[in-house]
Amino acid sequence: MVVGGGGREHALAWKLAQSPLVTRVFCVPGNGGTATLAKSANMPMLPVDVSGITRFALVQGVGLVVIGPETPLALGMADQMREQGLRVLGPGQTGAQLESSKVWAKELMQAEGIPTAPAQVFRELAPAQSYLEQQPLPVVVKVDGLAGGKGVTVAHTHAEAIQAVEAALGGKFGSAGQQVLVEAFLVGEEVSLLALTDGDTLYPLVPTQDYKRLGAGDTGPNTGGMGACAPVPWMTGELVGRVEREIFTPLLAGLKRRGIDYRGVIYAGLMITPEGDPFVMEFNCRFGDPETQVILPLLDSCLLELSLACAEGRLGQVPVPVWQSGWAATVVIASGGYPGEFIKGYPVRGLDLAEATGALVFHGGTRRERNQTFTDGGRVVHITGCGATLAEALEQSYLGVKQVGFTDAYYRDDIGWQLQGR
Ligand code: ATP
Repeated sequence: MVVGGGGREHALAWKLAQSPLVTRVFCVPGNGGTATLAKSANMPMLPVDVSGITRFALVQGVGLVVIGPETPLALGMADQMREQGLRVLGPGQTGAQLESSKVWAKELMQAEGIPTAPAQVFRELAPAQSYLEQQPLPVVVKVDGLAGGKGVTVAHTHAEAIQAVEAALGGKFGSAGQQVLVEAFLVGEEVSLLALTDGDTLYPLVPTQDYKRLGAGDTGPNTGGMGACAPVPWMTGELVGRVEREIFTPLLAGLKRRGIDYRGVIYAGLMITPEGDPFVMEFNCRFGDPETQVILPLLDSCLLELSLACAEGRLGQVPVPVWQSGWAATVVIASGGYPGEFIKGYPVRGLDLAEATGALVFHGGTRRERNQTFTDGGRVVHITGCGATLAEALEQSYLGVKQVGFTDAYYRDDIGWQLQGR
């Protein structure tokens, strides 16, 4: 069973269904893509319906649950399922605090000596204000809890920073904003390194870079992600080794010391400084979306085998993941107006043609009705291309993108731009 309904979950279901051991994948609720995927069936339940989904999994005798989004993890879905004897890829509620509380994650990093930007926590405006006024610019303000990717402000003036603190403490994000972190701005290049872990053994996945801004040249508002590429050529094996030693190993030790049995994905959002040192900007407790749409097409190993081994606490007994050589790039086609207001329900054309180009078509916000696919969310389809070079992967992806159309469709035409030629 795959919990969630975005491009990430379509990619997870697609990869899991390739295992000869899998007879059926329930996608809860899934989307228009998982509705037509071989072996897959959608279940119209909300991912926050922890008890309902747990009961459904038990009744169906589901052999493995992969929880895609952070909200059900933060609600304790994995704990409830494990108490009922289900095998789950995804941390329990306390482990999910890595993502659901930036204050908790920062305190853990500081206690375990994990390199991260220095930060202070505030619950009241006045002390935050006097502290902020002494900080060099830019400065970063983060709300503590889950804020749908909107809780981080990189402020270029003190007034902007104070405004962000005021808005959060004033209730803009509800209880997620009761505490804020004021954090030093890190300079460098961003990269994401995801890893699978059973709490003892940890296998890093292929490094990725995503494109968060809406507009070409990394301009405009932040989104859930408009595209991604993998691998990242300058993220060498040596650097990945340093992240394992300096970040993941002390993190696992710190989780253990706190009595947390973490079985799932750890997503490290990293800044690599000009000196080449890795710093953690954020942790997520799950696969990334759209990063998963470039990671899984490059994975040669069986995702089911790896996931089951994590869920059962025996990851060290299965071989390390094997990767295809070459590249993957994904481009998101979004509804016009996203990440602001947009209209749903437009028919989506050309998905078959996109697939015929050899590109992989992962649905995000779509639904299937009367044998037709309709837009049903902000990020509608994710088109992944693979190739021997990044240029080839991008070419395949954009060839696929050009086949797809719906009213007011929008995509970035410069995904991969800063990696080309490196
Ligand atoms: P996501 O949607 O990826 O979960 P988030 O809302 O949890 O995002 P972060 O990933 O922590 O937020 O930060 C968002 C972006 O803000 C980062 O990708 C990075 O560009 C920038 N950022 C965050 N912290 C710092 C920092 N200390 N220095 C410089 N930039 C930062």
